[in-house]
Amino acid sequence: MEQKETGMAAAESCGRVPVNKIIPFSAVDGPGNRTAIFLQGCNFDCRYCHNPETRNLCRSCGTCVEKCPKGALFFGEDKKVHFHPEKCCGCDTCIHVCPFGCSPRIRMMNAEEAFAEVKKQQPYIRGITVSGGECTLYPDFLQELFTIARKAGLGTLIDSNGTLNFEKYPELLAVTDGVMLDIKGWDLEDHLRVTGVSNEMVLKNAEYLAASGKLFEVRTVVVPELFDCEKTVRETARLAASHLAQGNIRYKIIAYRPMGVREAYSHYRVPDKAFLNGLADLARQEGMTDVLIV
Ligand code: SF4
Ligand code: SF4
Ligand code: SF4
Repeated sequence: MEQKETGMAAAESCGRVPVNKIIPFSAVDGPGNRTAIFLQGCNFDCRYCHNPETRNLCRSCGTCVEKCPKGALFFGEDKKVHFHPEKCCGCDTCIHVCPFGCSPRIRMMNAEEAFAEVKKQQPYIRGITVSGGECTLYPDFLQELFTIARKAGLGTLIDSNGTLNFEKYPELLAVTDGVMLDIKGWDLEDHLRVTGVSNEMVLKNAEYLAASGKLFEVRTVVVPELFDCEKTVRETARLAASHLAQGNIRYKIIAYRPMGVREAYSHYRVPDKAFLNGLADLARQEGMTDVLIV
């Protein structure tokens, strides 16, 4: 996969990746209680992204350093902006003033350092889920972290927009329990309108992961004004249902909500229950048995 920003490649080449946040206990990022790790950086530009500040990498311009009311941001000797988590009050001023729409509140961590955070709650969790941004921008980190987690007896899930060519990463898949894959539009034009990026690799991955028994979940965020939701759900369900013999696949149908969405894209209407139920029925008609509306 092409990496959008040179910083992403540089970040992983030294073994450390930008971690936006780690949630010790999450009940919504896969089965059971899990630690969820969110990496910074994404190669999509989804209109409905509700964490748009996780997309870009900090360019250390310094704008937010001056505006931070708590002195939680500072320039290091490397001339890059760094973050003191213990001083931060969570006011989000830094995100609001950033001219590049990103967050400076990241920590550069390698797999051992990230797992040290997981270890603190290891007895109380069933596994880890790595999300983003787009976590597959950092496949070596994922492979290393999952190898450690597996040895510790923890499950491993990837939450992805589906642009990494998974077929070329068999070692990563070998230590991954499953992938939660977004299908953001079935038709190319729809996908381009929603994300700015082609879905050719996403659909190839859906087929490959489902056939390999590694597709844990498919998800579609429902925005009726933006793309053909019926066609997307029907075709996605048809593809997934044809591989249920390889293992269960859940279809999560997610209602668009404007919370956190950039102002220019916050005008879409929230789909009503009847429309969401209709989509779930469509998925079931195609043979899906595990369908969830959230
Ligand atoms: S959220 Fe940002 S601006 Fe606010 S205290 Fe934390 S680092 Fe500073
Ligand atoms: S987060 Fe944005 S405003 Fe702050 S230093 Fe980085 S690029 Fe500049
Ligand atoms: S793939 Fe996810 S993180 Fe990236 S822009 Fe889309 S919604 Fe945001």
